[in-house]
Amino acid sequence: MYEIYSDYLIEVNSHTNLTSITDPEEIKIKHFEDSLSVLPYIKEGNKVLDIGAGAGFPGIPLRIEKNFDLTLVDSVNKKVNFMNEVIDKLDLSNARAIHTRAEDFAKENRETFDVVVSRAVANMSTLSELCLPFSKVGGIFIALKGPKADEELEAAQNAIKILGGQVKEIERFKIDDNDRINIIVEKIHPTKKKYPRGKNQAKKNPL
Ligand code: SAM
Repeated sequence: MYEIYSDYLIEVNSHTNLTSITDPEEIKIKHFEDSLSVLPYIKEGNKVLDIGAGAGFPGIPLRIEKNFDLTLVDSVNKKVNFMNEVIDKLDLSNARAIHTRAEDFAKENRETFDVVVSRAVANMSTLSELCLPFSKVGGIFIALKGPKADEELEAAQNAIKILGGQVKEIERFKIDDNDRINIIVEKIHPTKKKYPRGKNQAKKNPL
């Protein structure tokens, strides 16, 4: 399955910009292995949301490994089309990509997911506003981050609290000499309906 995914990513990326990582070995390590670092946090049958999934990371590799219900959202249509093509090619059931912004998708789908994942979309404060509203109370939000995670987390303490979250775990590891940090936030209170605020507000004016 990974070979089909990787080959198709390279093929489509040759005419449509989906990712800057195009070498097969790099795709294996920086896209597939990195995505799978959060697999232990997802249980079979969970409802999982990937915000700003791009070419399908981390959501699709996770879904290849385990049977759960996967929704991927991205604001760029060509990326959503690519993800739906991969879902079809790999014959993945219970998975779909949706063309929308997190801020709009939250109007109908708040507090309904067991696990919300996101990588390389925004700093921790902004990302918390885009992701935590979707998590059920008792569910988790996982930010897959690089070496700036500690600094970002420090600046996001207020946002996480306001949005009903509590940092549960910080997981540090290396992938091919790159420092990776996964921040796991538990949803302990419902998020007020006013969050996420409208388009780009979380980025322009972080909580
Ligand atoms: N998560 C993928 C990865 O790690 O390879 C893609 C990362 S890419 C740098 C960021 C993606 O987030 C882009 O595809 C962009 O369109 C999407 N994005 C940014 N803000 C968004 C929003 N508010 N709602 C939905 N998608 C968003």
